[in-house]
Amino acid sequence: MVRLPFGLILLTAAACCTAVADEIPLPPLRPFPYADRSTSANAPAAESLTSEPSECRKRLELLAEITPIPLVKGPGACGGDDMVRLDAVRLDDRRRISVMPPPMLRCSMAAALADWIRDDVAPSVSALGATLRSVDNFGDYECRGRNRIAGAKLSEHGKGNAIDIRGFALDNGRTVKLTDVTVSVDFRTALRTSACARFTTVLGPGSDGFHNNHIHLDLAERHNGYRICEWDVNTPAAQSSSAAAASVPLPMPKPEALRLQPASPSKL
Ligand SMILES: [Zn+2]
Repeated sequence: MVRLPFGLILLTAAACCTAVADEIPLPPLRPFPYADRSTSANAPAAESLTSEPSECRKRLELLAEITPIPLVKGPGACGGDDMVRLDAVRLDDRRRISVMPPPMLRCSMAAALADWIRDDVAPSVSALGATLRSVDNFGDYECRGRNRIAGAKLSEHGKGNAIDIRGFALDNGRTVKLTDVTVSVDFRTALRTSACARFTTVLGPGSDGFHNNHIHLDLAERHNGYRICEWDVNTPAAQSSSAAAASVPLPMPKPEALRLQPASPSKL
């Protein structure tokens, strides 16, 4: 036993003989896994890991590199069980597509994202003559209301059921942004089509003004399987002048789910 000048007692033989640095009191352990991005009010209560791997998690482990996350509970209705951190997706040729930074999502959402990356994004990037390297995650789990308004309806982000994607990094060093009007229209149209088939909410440019630089994807459940697909694949000409903008077809009428809240366009 070694008594240090400031009264700290090291009880193990191993601890007694290590470097001086070990004698410095360590900071408190950070809550796993996302202490750096959590405020105290937003920090999930980390409890035990979901005991039995769900069928979703078992399947996802075959397609991706994931880290199971301790049960996320609260504050309020935030959180959920069967959450994972999606570190990377594996393609059939074993290439590793990282998601940067790795998102924290409930398993069903992570699996939908992994399927989209494997079956739609990677082939679409290949059609450009490039190779997909990573996915640019702009936002995942976060306990907040829509549009970041306290008291507003809970965002799907607060349930780990949503992700915001800006674009992709390619092996050639280039990046492609999904909202960049100079990126191939066919490429963006194909990804819009596939995203709207896989996710129940897709919001991009033209939706509500909060999604001009990224695409929001979620698996919100609605009555009668109602889906929202609002992502205008704009072209440089469409943005070049108001006259040109006026010539493009009007967007489809807002779905009822959004029309019911016209006064507060929401960043979902
Ligand atoms: Zn979002």
